[in-house]
Amino acid sequence: MENYSKDCVVGIDIGGTNTKYGIVNRSGKILLSRSIPTKGHLPFSDFLSRSTSEIKQHINNLDSSYECLAVGMGVPDGNFLNGMMHDPPNFSWSNVPIASLFSELFECPVVITNDANAAAMGEARYGVAQKYDHFIEITLGTGLGSGLYVDGSVVLGHSGHAGEMGHIIVEQGGRQCECGLSGCLEMYVSNKGIMETIKECLIRHPESSLNGIIFGDLNGKHIDDAFDNSDKAAVECYQYTGEMLGKGLATAVSILSPEAFIFYGGFSNAGERLLASTKNSMNKHLMDVFKGTVTLKVSNMKEGTGAILGATALAWDVADDRIKLNY
Ligand SMILES: [Zn+2]
Repeated sequence: MENYSKDCVVGIDIGGTNTKYGIVNRSGKILLSRSIPTKGHLPFSDFLSRSTSEIKQHINNLDSSYECLAVGMGVPDGNFLNGMMHDPPNFSWSNVPIASLFSELFECPVVITNDANAAAMGEARYGVAQKYDHFIEITLGTGLGSGLYVDGSVVLGHSGHAGEMGHIIVEQGGRQCECGLSGCLEMYVSNKGIMETIKECLIRHPESSLNGIIFGDLNGKHIDDAFDNSDKAAVECYQYTGEMLGKGLATAVSILSPEAFIFYGGFSNAGERLLASTKNSMNKHLMDVFKGTVTLKVSNMKEGTGAILGATALAWDVADDRIKLNY
């Protein structure tokens, strides 16, 4: 029993800008959580050595008798089925056998899934989706991710990449996406997409108060505040973003008929400022049978926590032999 209480797992959520991780005990308590810059433009080996040495040091500092039984990771373009990270658009890492490389350094099993799937698992277990059997988690960060939760579990699909909603085409011939396609939802609804839109709106509305802020310093909070003051550039920006997001959501509703979309991270903090126009657009693009059937909600999980807890849920499943890995 003494050793049992010293069991722990690590949950890691790799984001385009920062990577968050947490060390979690058997009762689901986060013993420690931290964030490090991802630096996706540097070689993967930099991230691998930096993150593992820091996390192992923290486990040791907590209590040298803690034993890390498994690591769960939410990874952009991560594939649960083969443990690979497949050339994610916002990184220079190409294809990486990320699970086995981390496993060597951690000296325990490492399980990965798409970062949005990890957020969906956290949401289903600890967040606002506990009552839903059918929902879609939309993660808003550097890009737009989605985790499809259908009939009580995450959908992986034949390739393991089901749920790439960020690359639904919402505008034929639209903005060029790093994935090679153009007009992808992610190019309009993500940090980079919304910053591009606000830039265009600020040119059309030179009187906007946001023009008084150096563009590189401009963030979502500034846009929210300007929106609340009826600033035309901010209102137009969220109106356009909501229009595009609504189109993308309607496509997903036609295929999966979820009860809810849950928005997590980044610009989801805009809440109703963005979701009101999103809902209008979604309903406008839906068949009558779906209109009014879908709720839009903002996650109540602290940013970073949801995906970490979802990843640790997977790690416990591996540690306790409830799932077997092929890698
Ligand atoms: Zn794309």
